[in-house]
Amino acid sequence: MRRRDAADWVNTLVRADVRATAAYHVADARGMVKLDAMENPFALPADLQSLLGERVATAALNRYPDPQATALSASIRSTFGIDPRWGILLGNGSDEIIQMLIAGVSGPGCCVLAPAPSFVMFRLISQWLNVRFEEVALRSDFQLDVPAMREAIRLHRPRLIFLACPNNPTGNLFDEASLRAVLEAADALVVIDEAYLAFASRDHTALLDEYPNLLIMRTLSKLGLAALRLGYLIGDPRWIAEFDKIRLPYNIGTLNQVAAAVALEHFAVLDAQTRLIVSERARVFVRLQADARLHCWQSEANFLLVRPHAASARAVHAGMARRGVLVKCLDGGHPLLANCLRLTIGAPAENDAMLAALDAELASQS
Ligand SMILES: *Cc1c(COP(=O)(O)O)cnc(C)c1O
Repeated sequence: MRRRDAADWVNTLVRADVRATAAYHVADARGMVKLDAMENPFALPADLQSLLGERVATAALNRYPDPQATALSASIRSTFGIDPRWGILLGNGSDEIIQMLIAGVSGPGCCVLAPAPSFVMFRLISQWLNVRFEEVALRSDFQLDVPAMREAIRLHRPRLIFLACPNNPTGNLFDEASLRAVLEAADALVVIDEAYLAFASRDHTALLDEYPNLLIMRTLSKLGLAALRLGYLIGDPRWIAEFDKIRLPYNIGTLNQVAAAVALEHFAVLDAQTRLIVSERARVFVRLQADARLHCWQSEANFLLVRPHAASARAVHAGMARRGVLVKCLDGGHPLLANCLRLTIGAPAENDAMLAALDAELASQS
């Protein structure tokens, strides 16, 4: 009998839907102005880098990490003023928290629901966990379509609903009345993803008191700490205790715990960077709003969504890349994002380079 090679084994044993899936693609940004992934553009100041080096140097690499990340959890609580009544769960990025949430509620007939367009990980992680995912189109002004959400809730009976607020990639907050309408209609756990809280005019912790089916998810990724992969979930400790049971032991490595603690001890530095990004967003928005060749939406996040009127977003994206500026082209995804580009707000000089590259491409294409 012929020996089976790895391809035979893979074809027999790996799920067909997994084999049919394309790997998650991250564009190569070497040497470019990188404005495609909502990163904070600023490095830590030199004195903080040295302090980080000292703390990391003495970390006990031979030991497993503190499984509860006790010091870091306390530091997150105090930095972000989290009410002691709420429990907190740390994840290796919000991505891992999304995975724990879905894994924790999934079972036969389970369905996860989110508006669309929204954060792609809600759909991808559902698929990876073999859980049905349903989406409800946002209105053309990117607000929640409450009647359609109610109908989808009635029809699909989701157990888990994700609402990114501010939403990615549209940049807006959903209005509070429609969030409440969804919370009230849902016979489900509702998770508000506040990844862009630092750039927004509103948070949702006050709703935790009113809605016991609500949890709030956040991340340090957009605050200048994307490399650490650190997200957290807050809400009623009875919810948190259950999801904590399916958290992989030691999911937050010691180096990440140490580095995050150093950064949060000096949170004023990150906060000042964030405020500069917000003021840059206002400056770039004024420029883009005055540009008759495109539409630019208002944003509560660290990016702006734009739609060229005449030029092709794909061609503009490729042309900007040739000019050394990497942004995100959203054309071909959701119909509401047809011909749209997402521009992450970077440092002032990066934003100038981005505006110049965009201007040159719009000029050359019309
Ligand atoms: C960027 C982003 C996150 C962050 O994910 P991490 O895994 O914490 O880096 C979460 N939610 C939304 C909507 C985002 O845009």
